[in-house]
Amino acid sequence: MEEKIVFGVVPSRRLGQSLGINNIPPKICSYSCIYCQVGRTLNFSTERSVFYSTDRIVNEVSSAIHQLKDRGEAIDFLSFVPNGEPTLDINLGKEIAALKKFNIPIAVITNASLIWKEDVRYDLKEADLVSIKIDTVKRDIWEKINRPDRECLFNQMLEGIRIFASEFKGALITETLLIKDVNDTLDNLKQTAKFISAIRPAIAYIGIPTRPPAEEGILPPKKTKILYAYKIFTDFSIKTELITESGGSGSFGFTGNIENDIVNTVSVHPMSETQIQELLKKASAKWSVMEKLLSEKRINEIKYKEERYYIKNFK
Ligand code: SF4
Repeated sequence: MEEKIVFGVVPSRRLGQSLGINNIPPKICSYSCIYCQVGRTLNFSTERSVFYSTDRIVNEVSSAIHQLKDRGEAIDFLSFVPNGEPTLDINLGKEIAALKKFNIPIAVITNASLIWKEDVRYDLKEADLVSIKIDTVKRDIWEKINRPDRECLFNQMLEGIRIFASEFKGALITETLLIKDVNDTLDNLKQTAKFISAIRPAIAYIGIPTRPPAEEGILPPKKTKILYAYKIFTDFSIKTELITESGGSGSFGFTGNIENDIVNTVSVHPMSETQIQELLKKASAKWSVMEKLLSEKRINEIKYKEERYYIKNFK
């Protein structure tokens, strides 16, 4: 069965009820972050390519919008949030332009590694909201936490972020994920906050791993460090929010096919057992759906922080 590009809606603190667009096949990225929730990068790339046709993306989004609206589900954002880096898609700008006809705000969640390229900034400028990953502004820590492809250019990336921030008319937000003993030192936090304050985001989000990461032993910092980070950011006059729980306050969307909804969502966004139970209830379905997906090896079950999570089986 051909898998869908569109998934959700997914509840998100940053984006409300977000209809996800997975515009990159698994898992092509310019980074292999140690905390990545979709596992290690299978195919490193820094070259932009064509992955799916713009028509296919627009048609899938259109049918998901109709199915969700028929069921009374709200959609706050159409979000490019793939299991890889969305700006690797050379058609991203065309896709954003084509999706505007739905009159729903469009978001792109990027790791910013390619933002030094003028064509990438040009495409991103079409979006209503762009979220940029800034875990650190120190090269050695960047190499440790984001594990970039060797073609990634650190200084050019920071300069590209500055240029984009000065040109972008939409809402720019930043996301900084804190990992214990990697990027949670006071000096690193100050340097990161100083850089972020200069690009003046609407909101800077500070997060911690809340879903199973790519590597074992990746832990959130102590609570005091998280609060220090918050204090340091706000001391730099940055509007800052902490994200220490997974998901937002809404619920996962049901489009009419519960098996596809689960598989398409967990391919990008691991779901906890509680979240799955809520979605099954919404679809009037039983846990036997999960037993079937597990026995067909379409999904995997993993335990993280005393809770069971479900992720896509990419093998
Ligand atoms: S967290 Fe994002 S940028 Fe990092 S490896 Fe995963 S998909 Fe790529």
